[in-house]
Amino acid sequence: MPKANPRHPDFPIPGGPELRAKGWRQEALLRLLENVLSVGEDPDNLIVYAALGKAARNWPAHRAIVKALIEMDEDQTLIIQSGKPVGLLKTHAKAPLVIMANCNIVGQWAKAEVFYELQRKGLICWGGLTAGAWQYIGSQGVIQGTYEIFMRIAERRFGGDLSGRFVLTAGLGGMGGAQPLAGRMAGAAILCIDIDPERAKTRKQVGYLQEIAPDLDAALAMIDAAVKDKRALSVGLVGNAAEIYPEIARRGIVPDVVTDQTSAHDLVYGYVPKGMSIDQVKSLRDDGQGQLMAASRASIVEHVTAMLDFQRQGAEVFDNGNLIRTQAREGGVANAFDIPIFTEAYLRPLFARAIGPFRWMALSGEESDIARIDDLLLDMFPDNRIVTNWIRLAREHIPFEGLPARIAWLGHGERTALARRVNQLVASGELRGPVAFSRDHLDAGAMAHPNIMTERMKDGSDAIADWPLLDAMLLCSSMADLVVVHSGGGGYAGYMTSCGVTVVADGTPDADERLDHALTNDTSLGVIRYADAGYDESFEEIAAKGIGHVKV
Ligand code: NAD
Repeated sequence: MPKANPRHPDFPIPGGPELRAKGWRQEALLRLLENVLSVGEDPDNLIVYAALGKAARNWPAHRAIVKALIEMDEDQTLIIQSGKPVGLLKTHAKAPLVIMANCNIVGQWAKAEVFYELQRKGLICWGGLTAGAWQYIGSQGVIQGTYEIFMRIAERRFGGDLSGRFVLTAGLGGMGGAQPLAGRMAGAAILCIDIDPERAKTRKQVGYLQEIAPDLDAALAMIDAAVKDKRALSVGLVGNAAEIYPEIARRGIVPDVVTDQTSAHDLVYGYVPKGMSIDQVKSLRDDGQGQLMAASRASIVEHVTAMLDFQRQGAEVFDNGNLIRTQAREGGVANAFDIPIFTEAYLRPLFARAIGPFRWMALSGEESDIARIDDLLLDMFPDNRIVTNWIRLAREHIPFEGLPARIAWLGHGERTALARRVNQLVASGELRGPVAFSRDHLDAGAMAHPNIMTERMKDGSDAIADWPLLDAMLLCSSMADLVVVHSGGGGYAGYMTSCGVTVVADGTPDADERLDHALTNDTSLGVIRYADAGYDESFEEIAAKGIGHVKV
């Protein structure tokens, strides 16, 4: 039975033992599509997160996808082009059930303005990373990444944790909403600015944010008290980051850590310029696009200038993957890239071993299934400090949104081993239903994004998008259930290409074979990608785990 969804009553949370489709694989993908809307930011408009990341092109396309998933046989493949189903073809039972290509625009045309025009004509939609691929699990999807960044900073600069430290950030949307909880888990007093009071309320309602301050004075007083007591605390404040960051700087306050996760990548549908209300922004989207882009960029210039100011005064400042430096540089801030990107600054040694944001969703809708898998992880990887620390923290702190799910940064071999064990637990009936395995697109072999994932690669291969394309082809050959190639839309147009994958553990021997091939080959390619770029960690991983790397 689906469960009521207090946040979006028209979008119940899927679950229960009854199948509507002809098999669990098809049913699983249908539930994942329902799930991304149930935890999305604006499901009435099919928007899941990141300003414009959509689950389907439009409602007729959505209805056609649902119908196809319900009616299709296991030996068919549904083909989706930018959120619209275009074919249901006979393949074979080991082929993917769904393949997708979303928002891939030919190079010279891959510009935000072209994207907006194609979108206006109904010809395209942006799938974000995990929205269009039905893999989004709410703010939990990025929380471990954000937490690991904070912990790397804590280890390098603050003696191991962030207690007694002030973290300043902005953006309480779908992904940015992970920041207050990640900051609190790292021990910090974290202040999160968002222009939209509804976003702040939502994050409080779902348990990711503790307090909402009435104004900046009150917010700073709350942070100051928590810093003095070395007490972890998350505080939200409604306001424009382009005003509040400079104001904090003007008062002579220097936070210990500064970042930002507003939707700065999109100057029309994402970032809200200083001095404008959300309604004013909406009214300019169709007819005043140029004005809106100029105003957003001018505000981002002020926003990033304040971040650089904090950096000069000793704060640890980083870009959290929203293209804010790129927008600022185009607005004239020549040194915007003095701010490092989080991937290169903190996480690259993990990606070089293909350790990244793996996740699983309990299709039964039962939280007990996730608890059982948490136990399994602790049993299987007792010596993996990142995993054991994370699972203990996640159990204590992370509330479930939508289908119960868990994320954990696992690497080559670990992902496959876990998924195959889970498949056995599904087969034996120890779990209440099948489990879907997936990962973020921000993963070792899966993404080319020269201003986020692949910035300053050792060999200069930042902009080469062959890797995610190879990954997608490999995953189709490796029997994954859903394989997708996404490129950037809106402000990300021309900036990135990524590959996504989902495999369903339905307890069958076929699922065991799929999980083994798809997950092993996915991380193999990830390690190979970094070995090809010359990372020592990757060569160690290849030698230790016998990965089939061809060295030329
Ligand atoms: P979202 O659109 O759901 O939320 C963005 C939030 O920013 C909104 O709540 C909006 O009100 C707020 N905002 C916009 N302009 C503002 C301003 N001037 N001042 C204060 N608040 C403002 O987006 P999201 O899903 O939270 O993603 C945020 C950004 O992070 C996007 O650019 C996205 O692409 C990026 N992202 C990064 C990672 C990563 O791995 N680091 C992962 C996912 C998304």
